[in-house]
Amino acid sequence: MIDLHTHHNRCGHATGSLREYVTAALDKGVKVLGLSDHTPMFAEDADHALPPVAMPKSEFPSYVAEALALKEEFARSIEILVSTEADFFSGRMDPYTEALSRYPLDYVIGSVHMFEGRDIFDTTRWENIAESELAAVKGRYFQAIAACARSGLFQVMGHIDALKGNCPQLGAVPAPAAADEMLRAIRDSGAVMEINTSGGTKMCGGWYPESDILERAFHFGVPVTFASDAHVPDRICDQYPEVVQVLHAIGFRTWTVFRRGTARTLPLS
Ligand SMILES: [Zn+2]
Ligand SMILES: [Zn+2]
Repeated sequence: MIDLHTHHNRCGHATGSLREYVTAALDKGVKVLGLSDHTPMFAEDADHALPPVAMPKSEFPSYVAEALALKEEFARSIEILVSTEADFFSGRMDPYTEALSRYPLDYVIGSVHMFEGRDIFDTTRWENIAESELAAVKGRYFQAIAACARSGLFQVMGHIDALKGNCPQLGAVPAPAAADEMLRAIRDSGAVMEINTSGGTKMCGGWYPESDILERAFHFGVPVTFASDAHVPDRICDQYPEVVQVLHAIGFRTWTVFRRGTARTLPLS
């Protein structure tokens, strides 16, 4: 089993220490574990710009140091990859590039949490959305993900239809042209798409992305990786066997992981 997307208590909204995530992964028989807590808000002036969302900038060195120490300590039992999940803010990424280049990260997850000025998981933003607007807003979110991929800053594209998280009707509405453009952008950038099983922690349930996008991703040759997006240690590799089964039925045969930025495939099993 692999799991490339996990958090821990430094971000302010997850529970458990890094060590607790590692030991939970060992207990479950995980072979490759990515530690990928939320990236500090490097584009903001304040050290701790958004306390409940991400760790202070000044905390990032100790995060990476602790993750690297665990990687070494457990090297014989589990492969630990050191990563972070960054927010993509179009046109404001230079401070991220500069800050992250100082660390020996295995990969960076790029995610769009802030979209058209608001948090996608803020339930109040969806209260008055009209049925007729759903496909257009979903298409624009896919365009934002495509821009995130084209930035070339990320190896893994995070929860690519997370817009539906707290607006479940956005899951089923089709936006095929924008979806295909996004998938080609991910493939052409050399990044991979995660299958993220944390939908069950939001109103939408299920996984990111929807199964129609999984099928289109296979058609376009987009590589995939597994992501629990665990915010509690017990969710590591949540629903892993079900994901493997569904991906196998579609035709996928490999996972992709990254070691110091270089893609490696592993059998999908
Ligand atoms: Zn989080
Ligand atoms: Zn995220």
